[in-house]
Amino acid sequence: MRLANLENRPVLLEAGGAIDLARASDGAFSTDFLDVYSRWEEVRAFAASTTASPAPYDPASLRSPVPLPRQAFGIGLNYKDHAEETGVRVLPAEPLVFTKFPTCHTGPEATVALPSSRVDYEVELVVVIGKRAEHADEADGWDHVAGLTVGNDLSERTVQLAGPVPQFSLGKSYPGFGPMGPAVVSLDEIPDPGNLDIRCQIGDEVLQSGNTKNLIFSVPALVSKLSQVCPLLPGDVIWTGTPAGVGMGRKPERMLKPGETLTSTISLIGEINTRLVASPDYIERA
Ligand code: ZN
Repeated sequence: MRLANLENRPVLLEAGGAIDLARASDGAFSTDFLDVYSRWEEVRAFAASTTASPAPYDPASLRSPVPLPRQAFGIGLNYKDHAEETGVRVLPAEPLVFTKFPTCHTGPEATVALPSSRVDYEVELVVVIGKRAEHADEADGWDHVAGLTVGNDLSERTVQLAGPVPQFSLGKSYPGFGPMGPAVVSLDEIPDPGNLDIRCQIGDEVLQSGNTKNLIFSVPALVSKLSQVCPLLPGDVIWTGTPAGVGMGRKPERMLKPGETLTSTISLIGEINTRLVASPDYIERA
């Protein structure tokens, strides 16, 4: 099942188009996304049995499949090759956790305003929680996951790294800095989520190309470790980290520019396209 957001309504994406979940179920499901993720198994059963016909839709009208998550966890340095390119000498023994504040999330075909010339890209597998997790065992980690989607953890590096010590969350939370989608894909459509090709590019220029088998902390490990501290709630998202190739790790740096379109792809899940423009207060930084 592929659950998406079409003009702020939950829809099921199918080959021929989209099925409006609330209308097709005669109101059995609401248009509240948190309600949909809380009732994920019921939604899956409905999707498997509905006879509603998909209607054509404009992909440009898709919005974030999780419009305003209650909690959004980000994981730093979760691929060995990316950790190395940042210059750290010791791999993390525990996940490095920050937040992307909820208002940064946007859709799979969004236009995003760059606040400065130092905005970087990080293609990531994004986990959406379907069942509350509290002190979950790693062996049960997947039981708490509704599905997976594609995201790009946009990051203003000067804000992120200025100051006596880095502070990740604010630099990663400008409006539009959490593009994701096109849909949350249920796990039955992804036989081996620990082996997905993940990449991002601008035109023909491939910026990152990796595989989720190289995650240091797997999805079930992250669910378990995060839930030892914070109960995970339906609709919460976990940005699982990015492989090597970010702009900051290149010489010279390769930051995003107004006018470019960033395409982020994960096999079996889909592709998002993020159009970049300069904000009215755009700052040119060295
Ligand atoms: Zn990231």
